[in-house]
Amino acid sequence: MKIYDISVTISPNLPVWPGDPAVDLHQTDFMDKGAPCNLTFLALNVHAGTHVDAPHHFMNDGRTVENLPLDALAGPAFVLHLPDSVNIVTAAILETSDIPPGAERLLFRTRNSAIWQRGEQVFQKGFVAIAPDAAEWVVRRGVKLVGIDYLSVAAFGDPLPTHETLLKAGVVAVEGLDLSRVPQGRYQLYCLPLKLRGADGAPARAILVG
Ligand SMILES: [Zn+2]
Repeated sequence: MKIYDISVTISPNLPVWPGDPAVDLHQTDFMDKGAPCNLTFLALNVHAGTHVDAPHHFMNDGRTVENLPLDALAGPAFVLHLPDSVNIVTAAILETSDIPPGAERLLFRTRNSAIWQRGEQVFQKGFVAIAPDAAEWVVRRGVKLVGIDYLSVAAFGDPLPTHETLLKAGVVAVEGLDLSRVPQGRYQLYCLPLKLRGADGAPARAILVG
C-alpha cells in the first residue's frame, strides 16, 4: 500500500489567482525569542492551493462547503494521465480514454502537475483545464467528484460553463492537485476540505491510497 500526498504545500510562495491576495503564513511568537511556544498566523483565499469548490461558488443559492457530502470526497478514484500535448480536456478525449465504467471520482493528471514540481511562483494562465463538453460528459457518467492539477477546472478567462455544469449537477470540483508522482490507475481518495461555515470553497488535504 502506498500513500500519495496530492496536496500542494501552502506557503507565501504559492501562486494565487490573479487579483487574489497572496497567502499570509507567518510566525508571530518565537520560542527562540523567549515566547513559551511557537505560534503561526494564517490568512488565505479559500481557493488557494489544493482546494474544493462548493456549488455556492457559481450559484448564489448553492450548497456551501461545510455541507458537501463526505461520500463524494472519500472513496474509490481513478487517476487518468493525459499526454503533455493535451491543451484542454475534451469529451472526445475522455470517451476514448482508459476511464473504467462506473468510476465515481476522476482526477486528471496533465502537464499542469509539472508546474508544481518546478516550484513556479508565478500564476500560469495557459494551464490545462476541463472543456464544457467534458464537464457534461462527467455529469452524464454519474461522476461525483472531478479533480484537476491546476487552480481551476475551467480555462482561464472562461470560468462559467465548466464550473456551472459541474456544480449545478452536484459534482465536487477539486482544484490545485499535484499528481506528478501518481501513476495512472485506481486508488482510494481522501479529500478533506476545511469545514468553513457558509464558504464557497475550502483548502483541502488530499491523499490517494493505492
Ligand atoms: Zn476554486
